Amino acid sequence: MHIFAIANQKGGVGKTTTSVNLAAALALQGQRTLLVDLDPQGNSTMGSGVEKRDLKCSVYQVLLGLATLAEGRAPSPAGKYDVLPANRDLAGAEVEMVALDRRETRLKEALALHEADYDFVLIDCPPSLSLLTLNGLCAAHGVIIPMQCEYYALEGLSDLVNTIKKVHANLNRDLKIIGLLRVMFDPRSTLSNQVSAQLEQHFGDKVFNTLVPRNVRLAEAPSYGLPGVLFDRASKGAQAYLAFAGEMIERVKTWQSHASA
Ligand code: ADP
Ligand code: MG
Repeated sequence: MHIFAIANQKGGVGKTTTSVNLAAALALQGQRTLLVDLDPQGNSTMGSGVEKRDLKCSVYQVLLGLATLAEGRAPSPAGKYDVLPANRDLAGAEVEMVALDRRETRLKEALALHEADYDFVLIDCPPSLSLLTLNGLCAAHGVIIPMQCEYYALEGLSDLVNTIKKVHANLNRDLKIIGLLRVMFDPRSTLSNQVSAQLEQHFGDKVFNTLVPRNVRLAEAPSYGLPGVLFDRASKGAQAYLAFAGEMIERVKTWQSHASA
């Protein structure tokens, strides 16, 4: 089971779009996948076709130890993956967890009981470096950072990188940055191309080969409760996320062969 946090403390940079579409694309390629929604906005939940207002049980109860992951998860009706859903209840968890012990590792512990159930677990983090995000980073083996190639993209990246370093040093020795994913890319924009080239220069093979273009079909899909890759599989956005899933599967294979060598 490989666990990845999709994180960037900026809002609107494509975390949820990446989480939902990667989950659906991995499932299409036969990978047993769980998507954990760690954002009280519940966009990954809704985007997977799970109604956040009807939840009897969600990631909130799991984090507080009031329910198990088996009780909290639900199948995505259209995608062949599971969702541990979220809604506004989760906003309270931040405060309520402060008083609890092992508050950073609650998600990690919940996932540890399901090691055999999944090939991939994706964690859609909220737009902050909060205790919720910390739970995501403590549970994960790696971080996927979606980024827009714009002037301020690199600003804020250092805060995230520092947080990841601190978590690595103090809480989770397994954690590493898997890669930066360029999203909402506009190939006709000179600035996009310049920033993209800068990212490749600074981060080398930590930049994924796949470029996700700006594509309106990806933005339309959530209102149908569908991941873009299922809503319009032929669209450029969907094709990019399918390619990205292939890239992730390849990376995981490479580690496995290194580990067994
Ligand atoms: P975050 O989870 O980081 O806040 P979202 O994934 O919700 O970001 O994306 C923010 C907005 O941008 C959403 O309205 C989403 O539909 C849209 N969006 C994300 N990626 C793309 C893309 N590649 N092309 C077009 N629109 C996109
Ligand atoms: Mg989001």
